[in-house]
Amino acid sequence: MMRYLQSREESVSLVRQVLAAMGQHDAAFNPVTFAVFYDHLAGINPPLSQALSRVQRQSPRLDNGALHRLYDEHVADAGAEADGGGAADGTRSQRIQVDMQRLMKEIAQSAERTGHAAGLFDEQLEGLSNALRTDRDELVPQLDAAREGTQVMRDSVHTLQQQVQAAQREIERLRADLERTREESMLDPLTQVLNRRGFDQRMQLLQREPPPDGCVHGLVMIDIDHFKRVNDQHGHTVGDRVLAGLGTLLRTMPQEPGMTCARYGGEEFAILLPATTLDKAKTLAETVRTRVRGIRLRDRQTQAVALSFTVSAGVAAWRVGEDLDTWLSCADAALYRAKAAGRDRVVVA
Ligand code: GH3
Ligand code: MG
Ligand code: MG
Repeated sequence: MMRYLQSREESVSLVRQVLAAMGQHDAAFNPVTFAVFYDHLAGINPPLSQALSRVQRQSPRLDNGALHRLYDEHVADAGAEADGGGAADGTRSQRIQVDMQRLMKEIAQSAERTGHAAGLFDEQLEGLSNALRTDRDELVPQLDAAREGTQVMRDSVHTLQQQVQAAQREIERLRADLERTREESMLDPLTQVLNRRGFDQRMQLLQREPPPDGCVHGLVMIDIDHFKRVNDQHGHTVGDRVLAGLGTLLRTMPQEPGMTCARYGGEEFAILLPATTLDKAKTLAETVRTRVRGIRLRDRQTQAVALSFTVSAGVAAWRVGEDLDTWLSCADAALYRAKAAGRDRVVVA
Protein backbone atom coordinates (compact mmCIF):
# COMPACT_ATOMS: atom_id res chain seq x y z
CA MET A 1 0.00 0.00 0.00
CA MET A 2 1.50 3.26 -1.05
CA ARG A 3 1.36 5.92 1.61
CA TYR A 4 3.39 8.65 -0.03
CA LEU A 5 1.56 9.47 -3.22
CA GLN A 6 2.36 13.18 -3.30
CA SER A 7 3.75 14.52 -6.57
CA ARG A 8 7.09 16.29 -6.56
CA GLU A 9 5.38 19.70 -6.52
CA GLU A 10 3.03 18.72 -3.71
CA SER A 11 5.87 17.29 -1.68
CA VAL A 12 7.97 20.44 -2.09
CA SER A 13 5.14 22.56 -0.74
CA LEU A 14 4.59 19.96 1.98
CA VAL A 15 8.23 20.10 3.03
CA ARG A 16 7.87 23.87 3.46
CA GLN A 17 4.75 23.45 5.58
CA VAL A 18 6.49 20.77 7.60
CA LEU A 19 9.45 23.03 8.35
CA ALA A 20 7.09 25.85 9.32
CA ALA A 21 5.15 23.53 11.64
CA MET A 22 8.37 22.26 13.22
CA GLY A 23 9.28 25.87 13.97
CA GLN A 24 6.23 26.21 16.18
CA HIS A 25 7.31 23.51 18.59
CA ASP A 26 10.15 23.05 21.01
CA ALA A 27 11.37 19.73 19.64
CA ALA A 28 14.61 19.53 17.70
CA PHE A 29 14.63 19.57 13.90
CA ASN A 30 15.36 15.94 13.24
CA PRO A 31 14.02 13.18 11.00
CA VAL A 32 11.69 11.92 13.71
CA THR A 33 9.91 15.25 14.18
CA PHE A 34 10.03 15.75 10.41
CA ALA A 35 8.30 12.43 9.78
CA VAL A 36 5.55 13.17 12.31
CA PHE A 37 4.65 16.51 10.76
CA TYR A 38 5.04 15.19 7.23
CA ASP A 39 2.55 12.38 7.79
CA HIS A 40 0.20 14.74 9.59
CA LEU A 41 0.26 17.55 7.02
CA ALA A 42 0.05 15.15 4.09
CA GLY A 43 -3.19 13.91 5.67
CA ILE A 44 -2.15 10.31 5.16
CA ASN A 45 -2.07 9.12 8.74
CA PRO A 46 -5.38 9.92 10.43
CA PRO A 47 -4.62 8.06 13.68
CA LEU A 48 -1.46 10.15 14.02
CA SER A 49 -3.33 13.39 13.27
CA GLN A 50 -5.92 12.54 15.91
CA ALA A 51 -3.26 11.71 18.48
CA LEU A 52 -1.39 14.90 17.60
CA SER A 53 -4.38 17.14 18.18
CA ARG A 54 -5.13 15.27 21.41
CA VAL A 55 -1.61 15.87 22.69
CA GLN A 56 -1.67 19.50 21.54
CA ARG A 57 -4.83 20.19 23.48
CA GLN A 58 -2.82 19.52 26.62
CA SER A 59 0.35 21.35 25.59
CA PRO A 60 0.38 23.41 22.40
CA ARG A 61 4.19 23.39 22.04
CA LEU A 62 5.49 19.86 21.77
CA ASP A 63 8.92 18.79 22.91
CA ASN A 64 11.19 15.96 21.78
CA GLY A 65 9.59 13.47 24.17
CA ALA A 66 6.06 14.09 22.91
CA LEU A 67 7.05 13.93 19.25
CA HIS A 68 9.13 10.80 19.69
CA ARG A 69 6.19 9.08 21.38
CA LEU A 70 3.89 10.04 18.50
CA TYR A 71 6.51 8.76 16.09
CA ASP A 72 6.93 5.45 17.91
CA GLU A 73 3.21 4.86 18.20
CA HIS A 74 1.94 6.05 14.84
CA VAL A 75 4.75 6.39 12.33
CA ALA A 76 7.53 3.96 13.02
CA ASP A 77 5.69 0.88 14.10
CA ALA A 78 5.27 -0.31 10.52
CA GLY A 79 9.00 -0.88 10.18
CA ALA A 80 9.75 -1.82 13.75
CA GLU A 81 7.91 -5.11 14.22
CA ALA A 82 8.18 -6.21 10.63
CA ASP A 83 7.28 -9.83 10.00
CA GLY A 84 10.53 -11.52 9.14
CA GLY A 85 13.76 -9.67 8.41
CA GLY A 86 13.04 -7.28 11.26
CA ALA A 87 16.71 -6.63 11.92
CA ALA A 88 17.45 -5.82 8.29
CA ASP A 89 14.52 -3.39 8.15
CA GLY A 90 15.71 -1.76 11.33
CA THR A 91 19.16 -1.20 9.90
CA ARG A 92 17.74 0.20 6.71
CA SER A 93 15.43 2.69 8.39
CA GLN A 94 18.27 3.64 10.72
CA ARG A 95 20.45 4.36 7.71
CA ILE A 96 17.66 6.44 6.17
CA GLN A 97 17.33 8.37 9.41
CA VAL A 98 21.06 9.03 9.56
CA ASP A 99 20.99 10.24 5.95
CA MET A 100 18.15 12.61 6.69
CA GLN A 101 19.90 13.88 9.79
CA ARG A 102 23.00 14.67 7.73
CA LEU A 103 20.88 16.56 5.20
CA MET A 104 19.14 18.62 7.83
CA LYS A 105 22.51 19.51 9.35
CA GLU A 106 23.86 20.68 6.01
CA ILE A 107 20.83 22.88 5.44
CA ALA A 108 21.09 24.30 8.93
CA GLN A 109 24.78 25.13 8.43
CA SER A 110 24.13 26.83 5.12
CA ALA A 111 21.26 28.80 6.62
CA GLU A 112 23.57 29.89 9.42
CA ARG A 113 26.16 31.14 6.91
CA THR A 114 23.46 33.05 5.05
CA GLY A 115 22.25 34.52 8.31
CA HIS A 116 25.80 35.64 9.08
CA ALA A 117 26.20 37.22 5.63
CA ALA A 118 22.86 38.93 6.05
CA GLY A 119 24.05 40.39 9.35
CA LEU A 120 27.18 41.85 7.72
CA PHE A 121 25.12 43.26 4.88
CA ASP A 122 22.81 44.85 7.38
CA GLU A 123 25.74 46.57 9.08
CA GLN A 124 26.93 47.86 5.73
CA LEU A 125 23.50 49.24 4.90
CA GLU A 126 23.35 50.94 8.24
CA GLY A 127 26.75 52.55 7.58
CA LEU A 128 25.47 53.64 4.20
CA SER A 129 22.36 55.25 5.51
CA ASN A 130 24.38 57.06 8.19
CA ALA A 131 26.79 58.31 5.52
CA LEU A 132 23.86 59.55 3.42
CA ARG A 133 22.77 61.64 6.33
CA THR A 134 26.22 63.12 6.97
CA ASP A 135 29.19 63.30 4.67
CA ARG A 136 28.91 62.85 0.89
CA ASP A 137 32.67 62.02 0.55
CA GLU A 138 32.21 58.99 2.67
CA LEU A 139 29.49 57.74 0.34
CA VAL A 140 31.67 56.16 -2.37
CA PRO A 141 33.58 53.67 -0.17
CA GLN A 142 30.32 52.90 1.64
CA LEU A 143 28.58 52.14 -1.64
CA ASP A 144 31.45 49.88 -2.72
CA ALA A 145 31.27 47.99 0.53
CA ALA A 146 27.51 47.61 0.16
CA ARG A 147 27.88 46.36 -3.41
CA GLU A 148 30.37 43.75 -2.25
CA GLY A 149 28.06 42.84 0.57
CA THR A 150 25.22 42.37 -1.87
CA GLN A 151 27.35 40.02 -3.93
CA VAL A 152 28.34 37.92 -0.91
CA MET A 153 24.72 37.80 0.15
CA ARG A 154 23.55 36.77 -3.29
CA ASP A 155 26.14 33.96 -3.52
CA SER A 156 25.19 32.76 -0.11
CA VAL A 157 21.47 32.71 -0.87
CA HIS A 158 22.15 30.97 -4.18
CA THR A 159 24.15 28.23 -2.45
CA LEU A 160 21.41 27.82 0.11
CA GLN A 161 18.76 27.58 -2.58
CA GLN A 162 20.68 24.89 -4.41
CA GLN A 163 21.26 22.98 -1.22
CA VAL A 164 17.61 23.13 -0.28
CA GLN A 165 16.60 21.90 -3.72
CA ALA A 166 19.12 19.06 -3.63
CA ALA A 167 18.00 18.22 -0.10
CA GLN A 168 14.38 18.09 -1.20
CA ARG A 169 15.24 15.66 -3.96
CA GLU A 170 17.27 13.60 -1.51
CA ILE A 171 14.48 13.61 1.05
CA GLU A 172 12.05 12.36 -1.57
CA ARG A 173 14.41 9.55 -2.48
CA LEU A 174 14.84 8.61 1.18
CA ARG A 175 11.09 8.73 1.67
CA ALA A 176 10.65 6.37 -1.25
CA ASP A 177 13.21 4.03 0.34
CA LEU A 178 11.38 4.13 3.63
CA GLU A 179 8.10 3.53 1.85
CA ARG A 180 9.49 0.46 0.11
CA THR A 181 10.76 -0.89 3.44
CA ARG A 182 7.31 -0.37 4.91
CA GLU A 183 5.59 -2.09 2.02
CA GLU A 184 7.90 -5.05 2.40
CA SER A 185 7.11 -5.18 6.10
CA MET A 186 3.42 -5.62 5.21
CA LEU A 187 3.94 -8.55 2.89
CA ASP A 188 3.68 -12.15 4.02
CA PRO A 189 6.90 -13.79 2.75
CA LEU A 190 5.44 -17.25 2.15
CA THR A 191 2.30 -16.29 0.23
CA GLN A 192 3.30 -12.85 -1.12
CA VAL A 193 -0.05 -11.35 -0.15
CA LEU A 194 -0.53 -8.70 2.56
CA ASN A 195 0.05 -9.85 6.10
CA ARG A 196 -2.26 -9.23 9.03
CA ARG A 197 -0.77 -5.81 9.72
CA GLY A 198 -1.31 -4.65 6.14
CA PHE A 199 -4.81 -6.07 6.20
CA ASP A 200 -5.71 -4.27 9.45
CA GLN A 201 -4.47 -0.95 8.05
CA ARG A 202 -6.44 -1.41 4.85
CA MET A 203 -9.53 -2.24 6.87
CA GLN A 204 -9.16 0.90 8.96
CA LEU A 205 -8.76 3.02 5.86
CA LEU A 206 -11.86 1.45 4.35
CA GLN A 207 -13.84 2.41 7.43
CA ARG A 208 -13.17 6.05 6.56
CA GLU A 209 -14.41 5.62 3.00
CA PRO A 210 -18.13 4.85 3.36
CA PRO A 211 -19.53 2.85 0.43
CA PRO A 212 -21.88 4.70 -1.95
CA ASP A 213 -25.65 4.31 -1.47
CA GLY A 214 -26.84 0.80 -2.19
CA CYS A 215 -23.35 -0.62 -1.70
CA VAL A 216 -21.48 -2.23 1.18
CA HIS A 217 -17.86 -3.11 1.86
CA GLY A 218 -17.51 -6.88 1.60
CA LEU A 219 -15.26 -9.14 3.66
CA VAL A 220 -14.56 -12.78 2.80
CA MET A 221 -12.80 -14.94 5.38
CA ILE A 222 -11.32 -18.10 3.90
CA ASP A 223 -9.96 -21.06 5.85
CA ILE A 224 -8.33 -24.17 4.44
CA ASP A 225 -10.26 -27.32 5.33
CA HIS A 226 -8.54 -29.98 7.42
CA PHE A 227 -5.20 -28.33 6.98
CA LYS A 228 -3.80 -30.07 10.01
CA ARG A 229 -4.24 -33.34 8.14
CA VAL A 230 -2.21 -31.98 5.20
CA ASN A 231 0.65 -31.25 7.59
CA ASP A 232 0.27 -34.56 9.39
CA GLN A 233 0.12 -36.67 6.23
CA HIS A 234 2.51 -34.82 3.93
CA GLY A 235 4.72 -32.77 6.19
CA HIS A 236 5.07 -29.08 6.90
CA THR A 237 6.93 -28.31 3.65
CA VAL A 238 4.01 -29.55 1.59
CA GLY A 239 1.70 -27.60 3.92
CA ASP A 240 3.71 -24.51 3.10
CA ARG A 241 3.38 -25.21 -0.61
CA VAL A 242 -0.38 -25.40 -0.19
CA LEU A 243 -0.37 -21.99 1.52
CA ALA A 244 1.85 -20.49 -1.17
CA GLY A 245 -0.44 -21.98 -3.84
CA LEU A 246 -3.47 -20.34 -2.30
CA GLY A 247 -1.54 -17.06 -2.14
CA THR A 248 -0.76 -17.32 -5.87
CA LEU A 249 -4.38 -18.10 -6.62
CA LEU A 250 -5.56 -15.01 -4.74
CA ARG A 251 -2.94 -12.77 -6.35
CA THR A 252 -3.77 -13.94 -9.85
CA MET A 253 -7.55 -13.67 -9.52
CA PRO A 254 -9.20 -10.95 -11.61
CA GLN A 255 -8.78 -7.96 -9.29
CA GLU A 256 -11.85 -5.82 -8.61
CA PRO A 257 -11.09 -2.14 -7.90
CA GLY A 258 -9.64 -1.76 -4.42
CA MET A 259 -9.73 -5.50 -3.77
CA THR A 260 -7.25 -6.56 -1.09
CA CYS A 261 -6.15 -10.12 -0.38
CA ALA A 262 -4.27 -11.00 2.78
CA ARG A 263 -3.06 -13.88 4.88
CA TYR A 264 -4.98 -13.25 8.06
CA GLY A 265 -3.00 -15.82 10.02
CA GLY A 266 -2.02 -19.52 9.85
CA GLU A 267 -4.11 -21.08 7.12
CA GLU A 268 -6.70 -18.33 7.13
CA PHE A 269 -6.97 -15.73 4.38
CA ALA A 270 -9.17 -12.67 3.93
CA ILE A 271 -10.39 -10.59 1.02
CA LEU A 272 -11.67 -7.04 1.30
CA LEU A 273 -13.95 -5.93 -1.49
CA PRO A 274 -14.80 -2.23 -1.21
CA ALA A 275 -18.01 -0.63 -2.48
CA THR A 276 -19.72 -3.82 -3.62
CA THR A 277 -22.86 -5.82 -2.91
CA LEU A 278 -23.21 -8.84 -0.68
CA ASP A 279 -24.09 -10.85 -3.81
CA LYS A 280 -20.88 -9.86 -5.56
CA ALA A 281 -18.82 -10.67 -2.48
CA LYS A 282 -20.47 -14.07 -2.32
CA THR A 283 -19.76 -14.68 -6.02
CA LEU A 284 -16.10 -13.83 -5.43
CA ALA A 285 -15.96 -16.27 -2.51
CA GLU A 286 -17.53 -18.98 -4.69
CA THR A 287 -14.95 -18.28 -7.40
CA VAL A 288 -12.13 -18.76 -4.92
CA ARG A 289 -13.69 -21.94 -3.59
CA THR A 290 -14.17 -23.54 -7.01
CA ARG A 291 -10.73 -22.49 -8.24
CA VAL A 292 -9.14 -24.00 -5.13
CA ARG A 293 -10.86 -27.29 -5.98
CA GLY A 294 -9.00 -27.18 -9.29
CA ILE A 295 -5.54 -26.94 -7.71
CA ARG A 296 -3.49 -30.13 -7.94
CA LEU A 297 -0.29 -30.22 -5.93
CA ARG A 298 2.17 -32.52 -7.67
CA ASP A 299 5.17 -34.40 -6.41
CA ARG A 300 8.19 -32.43 -7.54
CA GLN A 301 10.06 -35.51 -8.81
CA THR A 302 7.39 -37.80 -10.18
CA GLN A 303 4.84 -35.11 -11.08
CA ALA A 304 2.17 -37.45 -9.71
CA VAL A 305 -0.73 -35.69 -8.04
CA ALA A 306 0.16 -35.50 -4.36
CA LEU A 307 -2.96 -33.78 -3.09
CA SER A 308 -5.83 -31.42 -3.63
CA PHE A 309 -7.64 -29.43 -0.97
CA THR A 310 -10.73 -27.35 -0.30
CA VAL A 311 -11.59 -24.16 1.55
CA SER A 312 -14.59 -22.81 3.42
CA ALA A 313 -15.56 -19.15 3.43
CA GLY A 314 -17.69 -16.72 5.41
CA VAL A 315 -18.94 -13.49 3.85
CA ALA A 316 -20.04 -10.38 5.73
CA ALA A 317 -20.91 -6.79 4.83
CA TRP A 318 -19.81 -3.64 6.62
CA ARG A 319 -22.35 -0.90 6.99
CA VAL A 320 -21.57 2.68 8.01
CA GLY A 321 -21.22 2.99 11.77
CA GLU A 322 -20.53 -0.68 12.44
CA ASP A 323 -17.25 -1.36 14.21
CA LEU A 324 -14.53 -3.45 12.63
CA ASP A 325 -14.55 -6.18 15.28
CA THR A 326 -18.25 -6.76 14.72
CA TRP A 327 -17.62 -7.02 11.00
CA LEU A 328 -14.83 -9.55 11.50
CA SER A 329 -16.90 -11.58 13.98
CA CYS A 330 -19.80 -11.75 11.52
CA ALA A 331 -17.53 -13.10 8.79
CA ASP A 332 -15.96 -15.52 11.30
CA ALA A 333 -19.37 -16.75 12.45
CA ALA A 334 -20.40 -17.36 8.83
CA LEU A 335 -17.12 -19.23 8.24
CA TYR A 336 -17.77 -21.36 11.31
CA ARG A 337 -21.21 -22.24 9.93
CA ALA A 338 -19.65 -23.24 6.61
CA LYS A 339 -17.32 -25.59 8.51
CA ALA A 340 -20.15 -27.01 10.60
CA ALA A 341 -22.29 -27.59 7.49
CA GLY A 342 -19.61 -29.89 6.03
CA ARG A 343 -16.83 -27.56 4.69
CA ASP A 344 -16.01 -26.73 1.05
CA ARG A 345 -18.76 -24.12 0.99
CA VAL A 346 -19.54 -20.42 1.31
CA VAL A 347 -21.93 -19.00 3.91
CA VAL A 348 -23.15 -15.40 3.95
CA ALA A 349 -23.69 -13.75 7.34
P1 GH3 B 1 -10.68 -26.92 9.79
O1 GH3 B 1 -11.17 -27.56 8.55
O2 GH3 B 1 -11.67 -26.95 10.88
O3 GH3 B 1 -10.20 -25.53 9.51
O4 GH3 B 1 -9.45 -27.79 10.28
P2 GH3 B 1 -7.91 -27.42 10.21
O5 GH3 B 1 -7.14 -28.67 10.44
O6 GH3 B 1 -7.62 -26.68 8.96
O7 GH3 B 1 -7.79 -26.38 11.38
P3 GH3 B 1 -6.85 -26.31 12.63
O8 GH3 B 1 -7.04 -24.92 13.15
O9 GH3 B 1 -7.10 -27.44 13.56
O10 GH3 B 1 -5.39 -26.46 12.08
C1 GH3 B 1 -4.73 -25.47 11.39
C2 GH3 B 1 -3.34 -25.94 11.11
O11 GH3 B 1 -2.62 -25.00 10.29
C3 GH3 B 1 -2.51 -26.09 12.37
C4 GH3 B 1 -1.18 -25.44 12.03
O12 GH3 B 1 -0.12 -26.28 12.31
C5 GH3 B 1 -1.27 -25.20 10.55
N1 GH3 B 1 -0.49 -24.05 10.13
C6 GH3 B 1 -0.63 -22.76 10.53
N2 GH3 B 1 0.30 -21.98 9.93
C7 GH3 B 1 1.05 -22.80 9.14
C8 GH3 B 1 2.17 -22.58 8.26
O13 GH3 B 1 2.67 -21.45 8.10
N3 GH3 B 1 2.66 -23.64 7.59
C9 GH3 B 1 2.13 -24.91 7.75
N4 GH3 B 1 2.65 -25.91 7.05
N5 GH3 B 1 1.11 -25.13 8.58
C10 GH3 B 1 0.55 -24.09 9.27
MG1 MG C 1 -8.52 -24.78 8.64
MG1 MG D 1 -8.12 -21.95 10.93
